[in-house]
Amino acid sequence: MISIFMSELNIAYSLFSIFIALSASIICFDIALNLVPKSTKRNEIIWLLLATLTFSLGTKTAYVVGISGLFEFSTVNFRIAAFCVSFMVMFITSFLGLKLQLNRNTPYLVPATLFTIGNSAAYFIIIVSNSAFTLSFYNKWFLFSVLTSLILNTVASYLVKQKLLKNHSVKIGLIGVLFGISMISIHLLSIKGLQHVITYDDQVYTSNVIVPFLLLSVFLFMFIALIGNRYQQKLLAEQRKLASQERYYRSLYELNSLAIIMMDLKGTIIDLNLTAENLAEMKKEEMIGMHYLQFIPEHDQAFAKRQFEKTLTGEVVEYEVQMYNSSGEIIELTVRNIPISVDHKIHGIYGMIKDISEEKRNLEKVQFMAYHAPLTNLPNKRRLSEDMAKNMAEQIPFSLVYLDLNEFKKTNDRYGHLAGDAVLVEVANRLRETKDYGTAYHIGGDEFAVAFSVVNKETLKKMVIQIADKIRLPITFQEFTLEVFASIGIARFPFDARNVEELLQKADLAMYASKEIDGSDIVFYHETLLKKVEERFLLEQNLKEALEKNQFELYYQPQFEIQTGTFRGAEALLRWNHPDKGLVSPDAFIHVLEETGLIVDVGEWAITQVLESIHSWAKAGFTIGKVSVNISAKHFEKQNLFRFIQDVNAGGAACLSCLDIEITESALLNLEKSIDHVLQLKKLGISISLDDFGTGYSSLSVLHQLPIDFVKIDQSFIKAFNKDAKSIIKMIIHMSNNLNVKVVAEGIETKEQLDFLIQEGCSFGQGYYYSKPLPKAEFEKKWLKK
Ligand code: C2E
Ligand code: CA
Ligand code: CA
Repeated sequence: MISIFMSELNIAYSLFSIFIALSASIICFDIALNLVPKSTKRNEIIWLLLATLTFSLGTKTAYVVGISGLFEFSTVNFRIAAFCVSFMVMFITSFLGLKLQLNRNTPYLVPATLFTIGNSAAYFIIIVSNSAFTLSFYNKWFLFSVLTSLILNTVASYLVKQKLLKNHSVKIGLIGVLFGISMISIHLLSIKGLQHVITYDDQVYTSNVIVPFLLLSVFLFMFIALIGNRYQQKLLAEQRKLASQERYYRSLYELNSLAIIMMDLKGTIIDLNLTAENLAEMKKEEMIGMHYLQFIPEHDQAFAKRQFEKTLTGEVVEYEVQMYNSSGEIIELTVRNIPISVDHKIHGIYGMIKDISEEKRNLEKVQFMAYHAPLTNLPNKRRLSEDMAKNMAEQIPFSLVYLDLNEFKKTNDRYGHLAGDAVLVEVANRLRETKDYGTAYHIGGDEFAVAFSVVNKETLKKMVIQIADKIRLPITFQEFTLEVFASIGIARFPFDARNVEELLQKADLAMYASKEIDGSDIVFYHETLLKKVEERFLLEQNLKEALEKNQFELYYQPQFEIQTGTFRGAEALLRWNHPDKGLVSPDAFIHVLEETGLIVDVGEWAITQVLESIHSWAKAGFTIGKVSVNISAKHFEKQNLFRFIQDVNAGGAACLSCLDIEITESALLNLEKSIDHVLQLKKLGISISLDDFGTGYSSLSVLHQLPIDFVKIDQSFIKAFNKDAKSIIKMIIHMSNNLNVKVVAEGIETKEQLDFLIQEGCSFGQGYYYSKPLPKAEFEKKWLKK
């Protein structure tokens, strides 16, 4: 074996091999670093394979040329199988090396090592396969060459990963040169370690095969370089075109109210506008280079990725997704992904992003409002209907408790709407506390409902009584203490109704019955209720007709000065001549007139009748005294009562001075208003009596404040006539007398009662002791004197 010396190195061959190695390497890295990142996934792999092919062929060719330079062509022989193995080793390692080079997460030492191993192994195999040389694996020159190559590869790989060099072309050139030198240095440095063997093998192919291989390989990678270059030119032209177009649209992009981000095919953010910066609360420089998925919460990532991939197929996709901003807040977005396509090829994706957090919140609010009552925030009637329908569908028995606050309108009128609202809110809160066993709803106005899963009447009643008691507790509003109580109706599924509408109706009916008919707080729906309600309805209808059909009549009950027994006048009392039932007394229908508002029409009719009577009696020359008419609080509150009386009176001031208006304490609740009304009437010469005195809540103090003429002691005291009643009667008489208000006693039936009243100083009286109320003609005949 003969060692090879540097002097034996053929300069021309060596330079040529260096040239081939460098150019192949530069072409390879130009393709790998320039073209691959700009290509679509499918093209990416093709370009990567072509780059690898160039690199492998170049290396192989450089080695063959370099080795051939050592001797005459004719003496160099290669074993074809080993040659192929060497090529494959080279191809596979450099393909992997390149791929890892491009993967940002792989440390640069990995591809560098891979390239070194591939190179040195390929070279070693080539040498060993050649019959003219041998090379020991442990040869120091060979090991030195491997080390040199590793260092060069490491520097080159480091350059690939780092952004040290601004100029891209220079960078790629440098990387190519470094890898090229690294390749060829293995050969140049190992030469010294080569052993020359002078044996001739016969089974190998000769140099005349090498020549066409060399030509073919050089031709091939030149060709690859050419098409790579062409392709790159095209991309460049497209980019320029894109850039020039982009200038036109720049302000549209920068100043768009939508956040716009531009992503490459892998989803890396490459540009964004101001709105996008604001949305993410980050600077543009920080965001560029980040992946869009870094902004998306984990639960949405797979979904967002699918949308991205769909866009890569050329589709415009729109979807809703959440994102984090830099403070970690979740923002609701609609995103429109638009493929950036130039000449039918997709180069990236625009994300047009709108912050819809506010809209979403509003939507939630609207949805909440659709199912909740605005003032109390309790679930509303719609929610109740839906909940009931659900229970019914699942055959779950339940009870519907309907509540209606009594006299709520009065609270509103008396203390103002704020007080009314406060009452509703407080009642709602109290009902809300039932949530352990029932769900409360606010149906609207002063109506509430509670749905219970209990259907046992006894248990249910206990629960509902608790609720009713709770509602009754005083409510403080400003300096007032308000009291409310509810009429409560109950209907149960499946006993009373089988669908939502019907159940609602029946609970409502029961509630109505508790208010109007039954008189108790809590009423369970039952069949007869329907009948009662029908009767009530009929009564209302009949009363409406009664006025038109002239079925009302006034009876007159005479009144006397009890000390002397002299006739003092009369009280006009309403009667209804019912076509079927005969004479009906007011207790049976007055409340219905009140509730329907008909009481005002009836009151006006009564006043008209009484004034006509007074007028005709005056004309006939009778001594009339005072004739009283009962006026309901509702009527008395009307602004135009005194004007009506003026208008309807045909008999002049003399007749008006015979008229007395009886009102109850409830008409005086709004003192300011009632003072005005009392004064207006008094100006006309009409006197005012306070009826049913002693039973209501106002005290004698109203007599200080209002110019009332007469007080009528409620007849229940005279009827009872026990110790307590007597002392109350006494007190009323004495205090009224002190205030110069005359007292009228009604319901006097016995001499004993009369004597007591006379003794205590009562002024006037009426009652069966003197006379029952009589029809006008009879009264006239019996009691009026000329
Ligand atoms: P009120 O104003 O307290 O009328 C007195 C009631 O006592 C009358 O009943 C009368 O018939 C009755 N009465 C009189 N003397 C005696 C007696 O010695 N013993 C007994 N047990 N009762 C006696 P009536 O006529 O049934 O009227 C009932 C109530 O209906 C009245 O009570 C009044 O509140 C109301 N009312 C009657 N007529 C009218 C009207 O025209 N307009 C209005 N708004 N209410 C009326
Ligand atoms: Ca009366
Ligand atoms: Ca009375």
